[in-house]
Amino acid sequence: MQTLIIIRPYAVNRGLVGEILTRFEKHGIFFSGLKVHWIVREEAEQLYGQHKGQDFYERLINDMLEGPSIMAVLDTDVLDNESAIKLVRKIIGDTDPAKAEMGTIRGDFGLRIAQNIIHASDSRTAAEREIPIFFEKKEIVKYREKK
Ligand code: ATP
Ligand code: MG
Repeated sequence: MQTLIIIRPYAVNRGLVGEILTRFEKHGIFFSGLKVHWIVREEAEQLYGQHKGQDFYERLINDMLEGPSIMAVLDTDVLDNESAIKLVRKIIGDTDPAKAEMGTIRGDFGLRIAQNIIHASDSRTAAEREIPIFFEKKEIVKYREKK
């Protein structure tokens, strides 16, 4: 399986990167791709295009451009795609930090839905669409293909 997470500029600015990456790593999920990238408007609009027209859309796009993000392609060799994507979404927690369970990333570090600290693909289709916005094939390592 492969899925995308983005630690958004607000969280990078707050110094939460290590803390957040650790959560996935401790589950046995590994990083197949990992980088620092300052997102440009076109990429943010591709990522969140489905929300165009919502009253929070412009703010959401502008927040993504405020500074560098940390983005990762996550992988695991023991789960099928859908289970792994569900697990990643469970680790990040509900979209609204006020509703997210304690122990989840958003539940522990989030304050407001409009200032979410992390993005994660929410389905296999979404992951397949979102990963190529930010990663070239050569930037993604396949652990099982031993050389
Ligand atoms: P993400 O796609 O970032 O992982 P999500 O899938 O949990 O989040 P979406 O509905 O896709 O939730 O919302 C995308 C982003 O839009 C959220 O992370 C949040 O920053 C913003 N957002 C969503 N709903 C609201 C809202 N009601 N008010 C303000 N911002 C919102
Ligand atoms: Mg979403």
